[in-house]
Amino acid sequence: MSTSLQLAARAIHDAQYLLFTAGAGMGVDSGLPDFRGTEGFWRAYPPFQRLGLQFQEVANPRWFISDPQLAWGFYGHRYNLYRATTPHAGFAILKRWADAKDARVFTSNVDGHFQRSGFSEEQVCEVHGSLLHLQCVRPCSNAIWDAGNLKIDIDETTFRTRGELPKCPNCGGLARPNVLMFGDSKWRSERSDEQLNALDAWAGNIPPRQLAVIEMGAGNAVPTVRHFSESMKSQGATLIRINVRESFGPAGTISIDLGAKEALQSIDELLNTG
Ligand SMILES: [Zn+2]
Repeated sequence: MSTSLQLAARAIHDAQYLLFTAGAGMGVDSGLPDFRGTEGFWRAYPPFQRLGLQFQEVANPRWFISDPQLAWGFYGHRYNLYRATTPHAGFAILKRWADAKDARVFTSNVDGHFQRSGFSEEQVCEVHGSLLHLQCVRPCSNAIWDAGNLKIDIDETTFRTRGELPKCPNCGGLARPNVLMFGDSKWRSERSDEQLNALDAWAGNIPPRQLAVIEMGAGNAVPTVRHFSESMKSQGATLIRINVRESFGPAGTISIDLGAKEALQSIDELLNTG
């Protein structure tokens, strides 16, 4: 393990460019629930266990049409939780590294925690959207807007909302988070597409061998982030994969079997003492 950490510190030290890629495991150290497996989801959201609904069934756009109070109960609770939660110490370490190099972020997380940690909008690609942004449920247009300071009142025993729900400013119908859900043909991808184009342009302009990719908490269940990291590696970048359970990767991957926060703190210590 110490060898992997040393290799990672060396790669980050030597790189001119850094790409941070993050999946659900990144948020766990901040105290956010892990939806992996039915048990993890039901532990965080007991009312859905009583309804017999799994994460894949709840994270579905059809509820915004058939039962808006239930849909917004789930997403509103997550919105409130993400806003009330402080990103863990690993985020500040990444921000410090980013300030010393040229760095970008690719994440499947929808919590906005990289921006909360000081990364600029231009640095971040949120490939599955953002819970801090809204769109029309229908949708009546391709508009995506900042959720601002939503007040979603949720009954903690039923996870259903009370009172007003966010509206589309254009048609007056119900609004929903601009997050890619399961079986979601109504998600407006324009914001994420733009971010991805900007990231591709950045990556296309740098020598891959001077790029270190630091991947954190990205599992195989939804492999979008792992694939992106590996595509950078196949072009010549160094891949550091931090993952408690699934740190394996293509030949040459620097695998670190730790949580994101602990791994980043250990690497940072080596960088500061090395
Ligand atoms: Zn609308």
